[in-house]
Amino acid sequence: MTCYTLGAWKNINKIKIENIQKHLNLWYEKNHRKLPWRETNNPYYIWISEVMLQQTRVDTVIPYFLNFINKFPNIESLAYAHEEEVLKMWEGLGYYSRAKNLHRGAKVIVEDFNGNMPDTLEEIKKIPGIGPYTAGAILSIAYGKRAAAVDGNVMRVFSRLFYIKEDIAESKTRKEMEKIGGHVVSPQNPSFFNQGLMELGALICTPTSPKCIACPLFLECSAKSLGVQETLPIKKKKPKVKTVEVEMAIVYKKKKLLIMKRSTQGLLANLWAVPATERELNFENGKSIRLELEENYGMKVTEGKFQFEKKHIFTHLKWKMKIYFFKLIEESPIDDPEIKWILHDEIEKYVFPTAFMKILKEIESIKADEVCKL
Ligand code: SF4
Repeated sequence: MTCYTLGAWKNINKIKIENIQKHLNLWYEKNHRKLPWRETNNPYYIWISEVMLQQTRVDTVIPYFLNFINKFPNIESLAYAHEEEVLKMWEGLGYYSRAKNLHRGAKVIVEDFNGNMPDTLEEIKKIPGIGPYTAGAILSIAYGKRAAAVDGNVMRVFSRLFYIKEDIAESKTRKEMEKIGGHVVSPQNPSFFNQGLMELGALICTPTSPKCIACPLFLECSAKSLGVQETLPIKKKKPKVKTVEVEMAIVYKKKKLLIMKRSTQGLLANLWAVPATERELNFENGKSIRLELEENYGMKVTEGKFQFEKKHIFTHLKWKMKIYFFKLIEESPIDDPEIKWILHDEIEKYVFPTAFMKILKEIESIKADEVCKL
């Protein structure tokens, strides 16, 4: 049984490739899940679904996808929407740069491509946020073009199918896997082939305990024939996620809560939040954010009262959030539309990232009247 090294993919046996194409396409046709974005070749729907599915489970995506296309049924409606509306439809899904890129991408399609999703690799790559995987998915599923769509699931299947022992965390491995994808994709039905690989990775060739007995590619699989399927793919461990403490201020003026838009740069850019400051671990009790409110916004507040602690994990970072309640004593007049005092009932009008929504949900149970007794 051959173990393919990078660059040697051209040696994959032609009969093996034809068998893979035939068995995978047949299996997909009979066994695929009926998902809302599968029963269409509308490039806009495929684009939205593929972006939503990055880093997010299918079950979570379904209601978001349906609500999103209901609100923005086509590329034009998305392009002409206000960014705040787009982010609202994304609220809770995380990785907000995906929504911002979709919005920017829709504007580019309207301005440069007359509102039509391009159907060539050269043009589609010009759209913000569309990388090789999404481009391949749109070209093959919507337009039936012979293009590779290789994501983490597909790399796992390829590693096992062709017994490739290269580290899939390396970008050179990904690039070679894309070449393998382009080499093996079915010319008869690239849409079924690519979706078949995605579905196989999600349902059968799973990260642990792959269900080889139910796999349509069982007879073609190099790793299975050697009994090494569970040792693949090779993926070197990510560096440890850094933990930072974040001090958050829940500040009340009578029954109104202070919210402000985060900076236009950095983590959770341009989204609404309560005042928050990243601190080195073991910072002093509630003092820092209080000083920041005074120095940066001219707000004098009471001593902070520690309420509770919560965690939130981003891809590269863990937030240990410490929540303090404050009551406003005095403020300088500020004319800034990105700083607001709102009632609890108004929270849902604004887009808060998941980390902050967790906090706001928790404090909803605490009445502002009680806080005012601080
Ligand atoms: S036979 Fe097993 S390891 Fe090979 S592709 Fe199928 S599920 Fe994956």
